[in-house]
Amino acid sequence: MKNLPVYLDYNATTPVDPRVLEAMLPYFTVKFGNAASKNHVFGWVAEEAVDLSREKVAGLIGASEKEIVFTSGATEANNLAIKGVFEAYRSKGNHIITCQTEHKAVLDVCKHLEQQGARITYLPVKNDGLVDLQKLRGAITDDTILVAVMYANNETGVIQPVKDIAAIAHEQGALFFTDATQAVGKIQVDVQAEGIDLLSFSGHKLYAPKGIGALYVRRRNPRVRLVAQIDGGGHERGMRSGTLNVPAIVGLGKACELAGSEMKNEAARLSQLRDRLENAMISSLQCTVNGNIDSRMPHVTNLAFNRVNGQHLMMELKNVALSSGSACTSATLEPSYVLKAMGISDDLAHSSIRFSLGRFTTEEEIKAVSDQTIDAVKRLYSLALIES
Ligand SMILES: *Cc1c(COP(=O)(O)O)cnc(C)c1O
Repeated sequence: MKNLPVYLDYNATTPVDPRVLEAMLPYFTVKFGNAASKNHVFGWVAEEAVDLSREKVAGLIGASEKEIVFTSGATEANNLAIKGVFEAYRSKGNHIITCQTEHKAVLDVCKHLEQQGARITYLPVKNDGLVDLQKLRGAITDDTILVAVMYANNETGVIQPVKDIAAIAHEQGALFFTDATQAVGKIQVDVQAEGIDLLSFSGHKLYAPKGIGALYVRRRNPRVRLVAQIDGGGHERGMRSGTLNVPAIVGLGKACELAGSEMKNEAARLSQLRDRLENAMISSLQCTVNGNIDSRMPHVTNLAFNRVNGQHLMMELKNVALSSGSACTSATLEPSYVLKAMGISDDLAHSSIRFSLGRFTTEEEIKAVSDQTIDAVKRLYSLALIES
């Protein structure tokens, strides 16, 4: 284990917490029943576990159990939310407002709906990554059925003013959906207090396994209607058919329970480590933070290393797992569309790296990474001087 790279890519995925795995294990073997089997105890045991898990998931975001639909992850939940609302409210309008810095799992769904007759507005963001509320107001029309803006950005950690965005959507009779995959379990999220109508999130970003997620769908004030995207046995109140993945659902419930009780301390610990890392680099190097630093997730920093290519820097830092831009786009040489939407130059976007910390990040690791990064950047500075 000691030889493995230091993992600072928690925004891409997290390990399963051992306590989550322990809670899941019996549901693979002895408690293997189908939660839809109503005639025997195997089914009842599974159903009971799913019900308990649903309570825990709902509890973490201030929802009620009946408002939770289990899905295979955030991508599926986003598809169900956006396509499901579009199909259910088509007679009311065809306009959806989203934002240029959304995850591809929102943007590509919107692109798809454009082929189906939707009109989509992709709102720009300000230089700090925040949505301009005046521009949002200006974009809403009588035809607007949905405003879809993420809670916290996966690349920068910037937190959008979701409560204000929801209020603006509601003034015009539109629903508000937020992809909260990067926020749930890390900071307080409350669908009631913030006026959220639909909310998606994913297990593997909060120490549960990959392949499980949830969509919150508001049941009153107003009751949100959705057209199912997967039809079958009518599971999940008809909104998402398919035999429930009981072990993964148990894991998601356990992860939500743990997040609820540990999130406050964890956020305080991680923001201290993040700030230490960030301050060390800013004081020794020519680097700047991308995104609003006052409205930002506690465990993330996206840093632009002026004059240094991010790919080169990551190659120098072989023993640190990092990400330039998002994991999905870093295979290509295109600069991050999120950073570009914030008005950051191609050069500076190419020099940017995301450090995302998590539950198992230690003080020693942060010290080592900050020392190694400073050394590596200084090495690259000196190479550049020789070349020029
Ligand atoms: C990771 C992520 C997703 C995709 O989640 P999956 O469960 O992997 O499908 C969607 N949105 C955001 C903001 C993410 O960070």
